[in-house]
Amino acid sequence: MDTQMLIGAKFEAGTETEEKVLNPRTGETILAMPEANPDQIDRAVAAARAAFPAWSKTTPAERSAKLLAIADAIEANLETLAALEALNCGKPIEGVKNDEIPAVADCFRFFAGAVRNMHGPVAGSYMAGHTSMIRRDPIGVVASIAPWNYPIMMMAWKLAPALAGGNTVVMKPSEQTPLTALAFARILSAILPEGVVNVIVGQGGSVGNTLINHPGVDMVSLTGDIATGKKVLVAASKTVKRTHLELGGKAPVLVYGDADLERVVDGLKAFGYYNAGQDCTAACRVYAHASIYDNFVADLTAAAASIVYDNPDDSLNEIPPLISPRQRDRVASFVARAAEHKHIEITTGGSVGDGTGFYFRPTVVAGAHQADEIVQREVFGPVVSVTRFTDDDDVVGWANDSNYGLASSVWTRDVGRAMEVSAALQYGCTWVNTHFMLVNEMPHGGLKQSGYGKDMSMYALEDYTAVRHVMIAH
Ligand code: NAD
Repeated sequence: MDTQMLIGAKFEAGTETEEKVLNPRTGETILAMPEANPDQIDRAVAAARAAFPAWSKTTPAERSAKLLAIADAIEANLETLAALEALNCGKPIEGVKNDEIPAVADCFRFFAGAVRNMHGPVAGSYMAGHTSMIRRDPIGVVASIAPWNYPIMMMAWKLAPALAGGNTVVMKPSEQTPLTALAFARILSAILPEGVVNVIVGQGGSVGNTLINHPGVDMVSLTGDIATGKKVLVAASKTVKRTHLELGGKAPVLVYGDADLERVVDGLKAFGYYNAGQDCTAACRVYAHASIYDNFVADLTAAAASIVYDNPDDSLNEIPPLISPRQRDRVASFVARAAEHKHIEITTGGSVGDGTGFYFRPTVVAGAHQADEIVQREVFGPVVSVTRFTDDDDVVGWANDSNYGLASSVWTRDVGRAMEVSAALQYGCTWVNTHFMLVNEMPHGGLKQSGYGKDMSMYALEDYTAVRHVMIAH
């Protein structure tokens, strides 16, 4: 198992505080990983700076070839990467192999094509005797900071557009999930020139904080908590660094009376509980029309109760445990506080699993009201709240009544209503009669306090490049 960081062309271990990397299925410690020291952080940034002039001058075709080679190498190492990701996150391995790693390879392939297809406005003479043109140029050194819920996928979402755009990167995975990042670093170092990608490990408050404040960093890309995003903004304000923020969500799911209930319940079983709800787009905040409310709650309760987890035969498992005891206890405390309300009924789940793994039972919190904490705050666990609405209620207003603005969905057979509600929802994404589906061609990112960075798609390439005007006097 790789425990060494990639700094320039060298692999070296950190020397500072050790972080225990846990197996969430058993609670056992996999290994203790020392974090980067200040000199190593400086050297990682310096290596990225040193690599920038040459890398930024490569042609799109040259960078594209490297990204395609990375995609091929990911597929060649699928078994190893999937095993590590499953171990470190407790994810059912088939899901990692069949859903996550293929999407990671596809992300690199998308940006390999996208960077060769960046187009802008035509050059024009807007002043007599002068010609103006637009360039899109790299920003410089990007500090990329990732969360623990999809470690290798978040790494791909950050690296692929940054590298395609001609930037160099210092990547910091979550201190809880560094294993695939370090294995991936080995793959990257064999393909990319020295210093183009550096991978260092450590806690947010120490290594992350040093990186976001580092004078050698030109841009910070963070996927994480709103509170962390605000710290990035404060740090960035000192030198006016560019920022790219993806900060969580609390996705509303509007289920109208004419929806195909079986389809809704199947969808919510999958998209409300996938990855044990540790997903910023999780379908976790349902509004169900009064005409179908009782049937819907009964069916969702049965579906959630049927979710398989912690089975010795991993091929049967549908969801992982939570990432840590802290996260499990946090989820448990949200549900316990919700259960104190007289109007709320926990129709299934509501407690931690048996055994030493960090499991929480798939939970349905029925009868929730709009003002309840369980409706307002991100739980990031296998917990779906259901709120009843009638024709007299402003359900779209309720859906928009949130600090978050990442993802949402509408379930109805009425195309006109689907279009109107989609237009009125203040979310970066609205799905109609589905939820959770992402494709590399389309942007993923939020509004409001969910942040404003776009991952995937041409829009990410725009985020990781600067628009420039070049004017030529004839
Ligand atoms: P977190 O903010 O605690 O940590 C994310 C990363 O930031 C980690 O690498 C951490 O070490 C680092 N970090 C923490 N404090 C820092 C600091 N002061 N300076 C610099 N870096 C710091 O979040 P988490 O608990 O790892 O992840 C869960 C959160 O991420 C949830 O809120 C979730 O919704 C969000 N998330 C959002 C998306 C999205 O696309 N919008 C995707 C996945 C996760």
